[in-house]
Amino acid sequence: MKKKMSFRRFDAELDTDVCDPYNNAELTLTLRMGFRQINPAAGAAEGSHHDYGDATQPARRIIRWSDSSWKAWKANFLQSAEAFWNGRFWLINDAGTFAFARGATTYCPNVWCRFRLVGQDAATAGSHHTIDVVRLHASENWFGSHSTLYDSKDTNLVHKSTDSRGKAVMQRAHVHEVGHLLGLDHVDVGKPHCLPSGDTNASACYGIADGDMKAAMGSGMQLKPENAYPWREALRSFALADSLTAAFRPVSSAGLLRALQIPIVSLTSVWPARMQRHYPRTAAEVQAGRMIVSRPNRAV
Ligand SMILES: [Zn+2]
Repeated sequence: MKKKMSFRRFDAELDTDVCDPYNNAELTLTLRMGFRQINPAAGAAEGSHHDYGDATQPARRIIRWSDSSWKAWKANFLQSAEAFWNGRFWLINDAGTFAFARGATTYCPNVWCRFRLVGQDAATAGSHHTIDVVRLHASENWFGSHSTLYDSKDTNLVHKSTDSRGKAVMQRAHVHEVGHLLGLDHVDVGKPHCLPSGDTNASACYGIADGDMKAAMGSGMQLKPENAYPWREALRSFALADSLTAAFRPVSSAGLLRALQIPIVSLTSVWPARMQRHYPRTAAEVQAGRMIVSRPNRAV
């Protein structure tokens, strides 16, 4: 089965046709970004642009995009951000959903999280997000970017913070921004020093402990299992639709009967994320996992 769903931030496709005892289902999130050039006024080769596009902020020197520099910048942005987020997480099937039989064994596939980043001209319809991009003059090393205004150096690896041992924490800003576009918050949002009700862009929200500071949703480049959140939320929608369909399907095949022996727990399942590949689970493994999860205080 291949099924598609559209969400506000991305489109999603779940493919269970690729499943076998060694290969999991694949969930691909596709994010379409519209890109728009910001060039010096009146066709000039050089000009200036204010930080954050705010006339009260300092102005930085910018130069006109050429066709080749624009093409190369976009290609690098798309390729590197896609590679960063693609195929990094597996969601472990604790729901007994999408079961399939091979011989006498019923398997429940885990879900491999794929990512596609598509670039298009800002004027083309269908972008999930549109950004303006300035091309910085070689003499400028910093520009005030925000979520819809980038600069040509946002794809470079730069020194963002310093850890407790005095070591530089480096980041390519665009992979962090794509994390936001997928729906992720800064790494320490929800901790006492960065309450969700406060300013979640405050520096404390980028991580206090070294491990958090080095996170992609902090000031570094490391992914954490909780970054699988956008895939997990999309998957819940697919899993719920699948379990409803199964519940109302005529009970005629032996395979379906086997599948229905597994509790349908789509609403309470966790789909915990892992950052290494796990083979599809057998029905017995799913059920054993569920018993342990549901009775945390008792010996099983
Ligand atoms: Zn951020």
